[in-house]
Amino acid sequence: MLHPMDEKLAGILSEIRRRQGRVVVLTGAGISAESGIPTFRGVEGYWVVGSRNYMPQEMATRAMFDEAPEEVWRWYLYRFGVCKDASPNAGHHALVRLESALGDRFTLVTQNIDGLHRRAGSRRVFCIHGDAAWVRCAADCGVGLLDLPPFPPRTKDQPFTGDERRKLTCPRCGGWLRPHVLWFDECYDEANYRMDSALRAAGAADLLLVVGTSGATNLPMQIGQLVFMRGAAMVDVNPEENPFSELAERSPLGHFARGSACERLPEIVAALGATSSSA
Ligand SMILES: [Zn+2]
Repeated sequence: MLHPMDEKLAGILSEIRRRQGRVVVLTGAGISAESGIPTFRGVEGYWVVGSRNYMPQEMATRAMFDEAPEEVWRWYLYRFGVCKDASPNAGHHALVRLESALGDRFTLVTQNIDGLHRRAGSRRVFCIHGDAAWVRCAADCGVGLLDLPPFPPRTKDQPFTGDERRKLTCPRCGGWLRPHVLWFDECYDEANYRMDSALRAAGAADLLLVVGTSGATNLPMQIGQLVFMRGAAMVDVNPEENPFSELAERSPLGHFARGSACERLPEIVAALGATSSSA
């Protein structure tokens, strides 16, 4: 069901299109939720170790990995199994069409580690929270980014076999490999998470299009604030009010496009000049 695009939003988008402006898209868990991927911040992300129930905010930490690497890996492989079963949706595909239309005037910054943007066909993507498809050495021995080897589907309480343990061993130093994801007790950086590149893109953006994120982490919020302070256009797509919709509504060139990514992105990217899908 398409929303009739309201006049203010249509005006903002046609002006960006006329000026051939630069567009930065910032996506979060909301666009993945429409592909059936839970946020893992709620009950679906809980994990039992011994007799204790751990919260995702405790599992996804360097501290937990140092203490119990196998438990942390088993939790991630369980989560990644869920990501593998999901497919990109109409929101992901709309952003691929926008990238085709804009070329190097397009940058996608995503908080999602599920790889759905890449699988849909997006190429100019900064994964500021990492990507589940890759692993790196936990001791940072210099082996670089490696593909996560394939694992058979796993249940929650299945211990590793020797073969599975070997798949998670660094080929250079023999220590543990780790998921290429940003943990709660770690900081954003450029080398792994393209923090400076994402901020640079936001600093040059004529339009920031925020999709399905509530701004719970600090780099996305920093990007929103930066674009707001520069007075660039800002459109927030979200079914619910959130810090980005507040910023967008305070901005003279801002708009809160209430709705989901699948509902709103096709009309928004079309208004920015992307050719519509033949489907
Ligand atoms: Zn290593």
